Parts: sequence; C-alpha cells; structure tokens
Amino acid sequence: MVSGPPGYPKTAMAQQSLLDDTAAPLVPARPTLKKLNEASAGCKACPLRRTGTQTVFGEGSPKAEDMFVGEQPGDQEDKAGAPFVGPAGKLLDRALDEAGIDRSRAYVTNVVKHFKWKGQGKRRIHQKPNWAEIAACIPWLEAELAVVKPRVLVCLGATAAQALLGRSFRVTKQRGEPVTSDLAPVVIATVHPSSILRAEDRDAELSAFVDDLKTVAARL
Ligand code: SF4
Repeated sequence: MVSGPPGYPKTAMAQQSLLDDTAAPLVPARPTLKKLNEASAGCKACPLRRTGTQTVFGEGSPKAEDMFVGEQPGDQEDKAGAPFVGPAGKLLDRALDEAGIDRSRAYVTNVVKHFKWKGQGKRRIHQKPNWAEIAACIPWLEAELAVVKPRVLVCLGATAAQALLGRSFRVTKQRGEPVTSDLAPVVIATVHPSSILRAEDRDAELSAFVDDLKTVAARL
C-alpha cells in the first residue's frame, strides 16, 4: 500500500487507476450514497458498460458498521439492479444468518459494478473482470468506503481481496484472519459465496464460510 496526500486513493489499484480511464471524474465532490448511485448509473468508464444491463451499485445503510465487497454483479443481479440477490446472495444471506449478522444493517457491494459475461446458448456465463476494468471501476468503491466508513470490511473472494489488499493476497492462505489495512479498523477476507455453490463438498465449505463470518460478527 502506497500512502499519499489527503484525497489520494488508498488502494494500490486506485493509485494505478490514476494513469488510466477511470470512473474517478464522475464521483461527486461531496458524495452521499444517493449521489453516488445516481452518478454511477451513467458511468461509461470501461467497456463493461456494454455487457451489463445496468450499473449495479451497492446497497445498505450509510451508517453500516460492516461492509461486504464481492467481485461483480451476476446474471440475476444484472437484471434486478441490486447486489447479491441471486443464488450466491441467497447463500450469503443464509451464512450471515447462521453467523448472527443482520444483512439489513450491513452494506453490500462489489468491486466492479457491471456484469461481465459471455453467451453460451441461452445462458450468460460469468467472466472474471480484468485488471484494467477493476482499476476503472474502483473509484466507486473508494467513494462507498469514504461515505460508509465501515468498522469491519469483508472481502468476499480473491478479486475483492486482491483489488483492496494487493495482488499478492491469497484468500486460500489468509482467509478469516484480520489483516492490517488503513481501509477500515478491521479487514477480513474470505471466499466468495459463489465458490461454495461450485464446491464438491458444499457443506464443509459453507461451514468454513460461516466460521469466517463468525470472526466478523465477533468484531461488530
Ligand atoms: S464496470 Fe464500473 S467503470 Fe466500467 S462502466 Fe460499469 S460502473 Fe463504469
């Protein structure tokens, strides 16, 4: 993490994004979640504006103590215009409930706000966003962090963890452990719930995910 003057982006990804086309010029000077949501709706900072139906901004309380960050909206999120409402979102809801975390009091968002996919028959198959697309979009997440100021920041999956904590971060090795970061007083990474849906032993993976979320709950 490179430090900088006030207003300088906190994440390594956002610092790199100063060199490229980014959403940064669209971020309102005195952002609120409402203003950010409205401004992001017209974002054309990267090619994903053409693949996604709409910008899917974060949702939740501006006073949330916990913020959960995933990779990007999926097929159902793209249609609904809301984050974590598809199968992975339902699994997240179940795990949060088991860990004793109230989603209605949290803030939930993604690193990238448009759905990237490729067609396979009638299905739209998720494609991982590339580094340039993440760099273009991360000013929205930086602004969400600046407005919400969560006490506990949870990265869901490798894309979120590496965008916020550096490309060398390994969720497989460091999941569930609080990480030192100036993004929030407590920062923890765990898997993305979609990976549990694909796992051979879903029960074991879900149980490990709930354990990580209990670590989060203990710090709220
Ligand atoms: S993915 Fe992000 S940067 Fe790209 S067009 Fe959508 S909102 Fe803008």
